[in-house]
Amino acid sequence: MLKLNCGAVIIISGPSGVGKGTLISQLLERRSGLKLAVSATTRFPRLGEVSGVDYYFMSREEFMVRVERSEFVEWCEVHGNLYGTLKQEIDKTVLAGDNVLLEIDTQGAKKVLSQFDRLVRIFIAPPSELALLNRLRQRDTEDETTLARRLETASQELKEQHLYDYIVVNEVIEDAVQELMSIIDTVDEKES
Ligand code: 5GP
Repeated sequence: MLKLNCGAVIIISGPSGVGKGTLISQLLERRSGLKLAVSATTRFPRLGEVSGVDYYFMSREEFMVRVERSEFVEWCEVHGNLYGTLKQEIDKTVLAGDNVLLEIDTQGAKKVLSQFDRLVRIFIAPPSELALLNRLRQRDTEDETTLARRLETASQELKEQHLYDYIVVNEVIEDAVQELMSIIDTVDEKES
């Protein structure tokens, strides 16, 4: 029987401001055979964000049309906006034998759990809740209401970290990147 050498789905979750974006960019720079699935969202782009690179930015109407067409593996409402993972973003990578990273929240991570054979879930945690609050304030891209909402979601998400296969604490970026790379090595070794 023909055995397809499919890649693995690697979920990365963690609260806003924990540094997922930086860690993911480092991983993508340093690892070949690893691609990021670009999510769709109805939130407005932040300064410097590019559609098709950071997200596929779209209206609520367009998002819901795609929901109707079953184009998403999962989708959720986060902080009042819709976010979803497009099936096509995963398929094109895993069928080519590469691993795909999904940067999704804890609700989305639960929904994809049963959908893939080769799946690993990693939670990025801050060194402390206070450190997270300081990072979010420094980021300064949000107004006070949005910040309060993100903090509330963050403490909910932190309560769910035990559901993940691995928890990586992002205190020193380089250490966290090294830890993530060794987790991915383990995933690759299991396949070979
Ligand atoms: P942000 O607006 O800061 O880019 O993302 C807010 C939250 O949405 C983050 O926790 C991020 O992980 C989550 N998120 C981004 N894309 C997706 C997705 O496709 N599905 C789900 N469920 N969450 C997502």
